[in-house]
Amino acid sequence: MNHNVLITGGAGFIGSHVVRFFVNSYPNYHIYNLDILSYAGNLDNLTDIQNKENYTFIKGDICDKELIKKIFKQHKISRVIHLAAESHVDKSIIDPLRFAKTNVIGTLCLLEAARKSWKNNHFDKLFYHISTDEVYGSAEKNHFFNENSNYHPNSPYSASKASSDHFVMAFGRTYNFPVIISNCSNNYGPNQYAEKLIPLFINNIINNKILPLYGSGENIRDWIYVGDHIRAIDKIFHHGKLRETYNIGGDNLLSNIDLTDKIIKITDKLLGKPIGYSKKLIRFVDDRPGHDFRYAIDSSKIKNELGWKPIIEMNEGIKITVKWHLHNNSN
Ligand code: NAD
Repeated sequence: MNHNVLITGGAGFIGSHVVRFFVNSYPNYHIYNLDILSYAGNLDNLTDIQNKENYTFIKGDICDKELIKKIFKQHKISRVIHLAAESHVDKSIIDPLRFAKTNVIGTLCLLEAARKSWKNNHFDKLFYHISTDEVYGSAEKNHFFNENSNYHPNSPYSASKASSDHFVMAFGRTYNFPVIISNCSNNYGPNQYAEKLIPLFINNIINNKILPLYGSGENIRDWIYVGDHIRAIDKIFHHGKLRETYNIGGDNLLSNIDLTDKIIKITDKLLGKPIGYSKKLIRFVDDRPGHDFRYAIDSSKIKNELGWKPIIEMNEGIKITVKWHLHNNSN
């Protein structure tokens, strides 16, 4: 089957891996990458595929209704993987309106354009929305969120993602629209802008800058290597059930302080410094307001129904990520 696939946010961290994977794996698909190139988007992430015949980059805003309408019409878009978003929690605390605009209104603009373009012919169409485990809020000790867990977003970022998820599912129910959502835990890997914990700390160790840890550093996250997320997206895109949600996790819960120790050990070793040398850079700073204490995802559904599981062990994933930063060092 041929598809014209619109991937939004394809110049960002996860999006660039999705674009590369689909362009290389499916030469019979044409991939249209729509990205506004905000501070988080970088076409250098995609230089190796930029001249491929089945790839087109379009610079633009998902909130630009006329542009989106034109893209659907001109390129006969049959499938969407929607990743474009404002994605940094700290920025959402400073400017929540911007998050509502991009993440909620932008998603709605895309849904409307797809609905109007596909009319009632939904054969082999798909609107696949990429979301986060943060919509569930903080998990109690020993509790893992599954697809039936209630939404309880605590930051403007997670509230905007939760809202967009609700719109996507509402389109599924109201218009029998061909939607799927996946909610993934914290990703790490090459191409991530150095504002989130892992890329920031790697860069700061390389540049001998302080490592600011929120609160007591005990907050727990479930970390997944971006390549494992991409394999899950591929499975869901091709075999996921319409109007369903899939949780994706790394089975890899770690406190921020333990994660920091791991990053320090691996980065110091690759820099040829005594292991643990960069521990002196750690500084505990005031906690983020509304900071979720623990994220924990139950991915049994995608494992049982689609035969996916994470395969990259974290020491290996961090090593790959540090090496990428050493080649792309920004200070
Ligand atoms: P990112 O911030 O690295 O990339 C976002 C991309 O979207 C950037 O290239 C940016 O230029 C683009 N963009 C922003 N506003 C746009 C607009 N108005 N129009 C077009 N493009 C726009 O984000 P990421 O970490 O790669 O996350 C991608 C998606 O995955 C997001 O929807 C995020 O909520 C979701 N997600 C991320 C994680 C994670 O750990 N990073 C985990 C689960 C889900």
